[in-house]
Amino acid sequence: MDLRKLQLEQALTLLQQGRYPLPPRVEGNGEAWLQAVLDGLCDLSLRDALTGLTNRRHFRAVLEREIDRVARTGESALLLILDIDHFKRINDTYGHESGDQVIQAVGVRLSDSVRPMDTVARYGGEEFAIMLPNCQPTFGSAVAERVRVAIEAQPVKLTSGHEVHITASVGGAYAPQWVRSSASLWMERADLQLYCAKTEGRNRVCLEQAAISSVSAEEKGMLFGLGAHHSDAQDASDE
Ligand code: GH3
Ligand code: MG
Ligand code: MG
Repeated sequence: MDLRKLQLEQALTLLQQGRYPLPPRVEGNGEAWLQAVLDGLCDLSLRDALTGLTNRRHFRAVLEREIDRVARTGESALLLILDIDHFKRINDTYGHESGDQVIQAVGVRLSDSVRPMDTVARYGGEEFAIMLPNCQPTFGSAVAERVRVAIEAQPVKLTSGHEVHITASVGGAYAPQWVRSSASLWMERADLQLYCAKTEGRNRVCLEQAAISSVSAEEKGMLFGLGAHHSDAQDASDE
């Protein structure tokens, strides 16, 4: 394939703007170079431009995959939705650019407060979502509280020199175990809890009561016609 015939100018500009370094284009590395361009474009299409976090579209795909896993393995997974409190005031007081800096700072704090296996997304303007696979209901509240505290712990230092104290409200819901649900329903349930956190006064966590699974290991086997060994192997292939 003659790479010079491909019209890559726009793609290369996008990668440059997104600060995706490409290997130098030298004689004989055409295939590796083109692969790096495609990998960069894929990554770019999965991320939010302002924060670099997973974007809404990709997050929906992450949710669908997790719903599948929970339904198959019965493993618990928690979805958190977080919304910055009174964010409009920040924009109104310090300007839109400063608002953007606050959104970026929140993105960093969220990423720093969860495990590498968790997915943090910017879901809307000043709204974030976090998917925590393998999160037991007994730990959910502590995790969500840690996330909330990470937001309010320090004021955000703006480039203008101002310091802004921020808080956020958090809503959460577990994926139903052993039942195939939908990403929309899961989001709706977490969103309802976020609404509760807002109406109860903001800067707090509301989690949906997790249904404790009363299905025994034996019943699980009967339900799915799978031996434990088989499902373990399936799990390992998912990681
Ligand atoms: P609440 O505590 O109820 O969440 O109040 P709020 O002010 O945070 O909520 P509201 O929905 O009234 O305002 C959200 C604001 O976020 C309005 C919108 O202009 C602003 N916004 C949305 N996206 C962005 C963005 O990318 N950058 C900036 N700077 N502002 C944004
Ligand atoms: Mg909002
Ligand atoms: Mg808000």
